[in-house]
Amino acid sequence: GTIDEIKSRGYLLVGLSADFPPFEFVDENGNIAGFDVDLAKEIARRLGVELKIVDMTFDGLIPSLLTKKIDVIISGMTITEERKKVVAFSDPYFDAGQVIVVRKDSDFRPKTYEDLVGKTVAVQIGTTGDIEVSKYEGIKVVRFDKFTDAFLELKRGRADAVVLDSATARAFVAKNPDLVISSGVLSSEQYGIAVRKEDTDLLEFINSVLRELKKSPYDVLIEKWFSE
Ligand code: GLN
Repeated sequence: GTIDEIKSRGYLLVGLSADFPPFEFVDENGNIAGFDVDLAKEIARRLGVELKIVDMTFDGLIPSLLTKKIDVIISGMTITEERKKVVAFSDPYFDAGQVIVVRKDSDFRPKTYEDLVGKTVAVQIGTTGDIEVSKYEGIKVVRFDKFTDAFLELKRGRADAVVLDSATARAFVAKNPDLVISSGVLSSEQYGIAVRKEDTDLLEFINSVLRELKKSPYDVLIEKWFSE
């Protein structure tokens, strides 16, 4: 299976788009860091192999997985029915949802997607934020490869809002005091690790790692003394 292939090769190829703090981003030393990177390290460590990160645009991730340029996607990717038609997802590892970000100095404070009708909204191509706002005919959607460029468009006044995942919005806003989150959380999403559908051995392994990581020391103790 794929696990044997990865082990004999000696490294795990993880694809991500390093513009999505705190899940994956380029840190002050130029290294790719974040929650997903630590998760990837843990999976590689438990496989007994090195970790190789392949940074690319978000919309390139699924094509790269399908053409075997990477083994897995760990990139804050929401589990959706559409994506499940082409890839397999692990058990969920994080709860998320979309929010609207605007400039603090404007008096535009949209609360819903309907409030964005007639406005220009910057998104990252192929994200769930892109998919949601694209359903509204009256919203002008401008799409970028990287979230950083979507935010530049907002800061420069060429877009009225950015729609993206809440935890990442909070991270961007914390570093950009000229921006503010204007809405509540507008969707209910869960992140999963994606693998090719045929790689069932790898998927099972990843799910077992997630189960282990989610266990508290208390759960381990209970299991030690009470499981048959
Ligand atoms: N969770 C969103 C999605 O899956 C955005 C992910 C991202 O930009 N890394 O589309």
